[in-house]
Amino acid sequence: ASTALSRIGLAGLAVMGQNLALNIADKGFPISVYNRTTSKVDETLDRARREGDLPLTGHHTPRDFVLSIKPPRSVIILVKAGSPVDQTIATLSEYMSPGDCIIDGGNEWYENTERRIHDASQKGLLYLGMGVSGGEEGARFGPSLMPGGSHEAYNNIKDILQKIAAQVEDGPCVTYIGEGGSGNFVKMVHNGIEYGDMQLISEAYDVLKHVGGLSNSELAEIFAEWNRGELESFLIEITADIFKVKDDHGEGELVDKILDKTGMKGTGKWTVQQAAELSVAAPTIAASLDCRYLSGLKEEREKASEILREAGLKDEVQNVGVHVDKKRLIDDVRQALYASKICSYAQGMNLLRSKSDQKGWNLNFGELARIWKGGCIIRAVFLDRIKQAYQRNPNLASLVVDPEFAREMVQRQAAWRRVVGLAISAGISTPGMCASLSYFDTYRRARLPANLVQAQRDLFGAHTYERIDRPGSYHTEWTKIA
Ligand code: NAP
Repeated sequence: ASTALSRIGLAGLAVMGQNLALNIADKGFPISVYNRTTSKVDETLDRARREGDLPLTGHHTPRDFVLSIKPPRSVIILVKAGSPVDQTIATLSEYMSPGDCIIDGGNEWYENTERRIHDASQKGLLYLGMGVSGGEEGARFGPSLMPGGSHEAYNNIKDILQKIAAQVEDGPCVTYIGEGGSGNFVKMVHNGIEYGDMQLISEAYDVLKHVGGLSNSELAEIFAEWNRGELESFLIEITADIFKVKDDHGEGELVDKILDKTGMKGTGKWTVQQAAELSVAAPTIAASLDCRYLSGLKEEREKASEILREAGLKDEVQNVGVHVDKKRLIDDVRQALYASKICSYAQGMNLLRSKSDQKGWNLNFGELARIWKGGCIIRAVFLDRIKQAYQRNPNLASLVVDPEFAREMVQRQAAWRRVVGLAISAGISTPGMCASLSYFDTYRRARLPANLVQAQRDLFGAHTYERIDRPGSYHTEWTKIA
């Protein structure tokens, strides 16, 4: 370790912090690291030595750590979101000076970041809330970074962020997102979209397995093939790999031995709560969240399946009563997955637009799609098309009505309807695909049955209604007329 001051510091050396620190050092930026439990400091030093004598210094006290960084200091925090972040800020800021900057890289609730921006400014400190995506691998070799808050703080470390981020053909996967908690909010919606993608992929798997009768090795092949086309993405790629992994505790593949109960950490729930808060429809993302809740009711589902079987419900596939053409089913499911995905991204982007309008963040949607092209969990070839859609029209009302996506959805709607229809007949639930299709069918209709709802509201609550043929609001004494 040299006595020269480090360019930047990082506190919090669990999975994410340790790997991000090594990434920064690997790109040639001398870095100081610190962790509450000091054994992790030594562990990180060890890794830095083993991974090529990287310019990283470890510190066992917060004071030594902060004072080892060159002013104006930039300190990245990667600890558990919530009060651990407040505690870490309190510990470190004691030794920081006006002009120094704190960067929280955790999955933080955006309002916590806005509160901390305010508190930090009272002490003359700058603050960034930076979404980091890509897990362990991304943190070490190139994540997607979503920094929001102080623009000055961003400029102080822009060169570092651009070097450590994933690189795609149109630049590094980082951009200044906007003011306040925008970086955390964008990361939250990214995670919501990720929930949707994972749900849709699991439904495709379910239909192919239970309606099409595909084996794990066939599924591996199909997903690998899909990964060479329009669906090419990290999640499709890892799905193909998952089907190949054998169970080392017994016969067959590991995937079949995994308990069907999904875990979650809260960002998907926040996304759905925010959608409701802002009156933005996000049914595909909400369906994926609901499915995680239902998956958690394993024992109840087991009981329900028995009660309903005893009551006469037959096994799913027998109910279909049709002979499925495997080849066509596979092609249909691919198209249904793609069309459903467009609707899910349309929901996520519209949630971002609504929040951006409310907060005055002035989000650049094309840029957001671009920085998600690499490093993060939802990275996909498809995101370049979204980038282009917003470049064509920055005020696009919905991805569904972008001329390119509109054409693709119309081309795929027959296949999409066949898959959803077949799944419904077979009793195989496809809540994500159904939600996407309903979203599409609701959004594309010039006239909905909402006229009847308005009439009901006016009848029982005198809530008034508008007419299609003349201005003004009206109330009718319905029961007297009828
Ligand atoms: P984590 O398990 O969320 O947090 C562990 C770290 O927090 C340890 O360094 C721990 O220090 C520290 N910590 C906890 N309570 C503390 C307190 N009261 N005071 C000081 N330090 C405290 O770590 P992680 O998985 O690396 O995630 C870090 C952040 O990145 C989280 O916000 C997470 O949501 C986000 N994130 C994670 C991933 C991922 O794939 N894991 C991906 C994207 C974003 P000790 O060692 O002393 O206990």
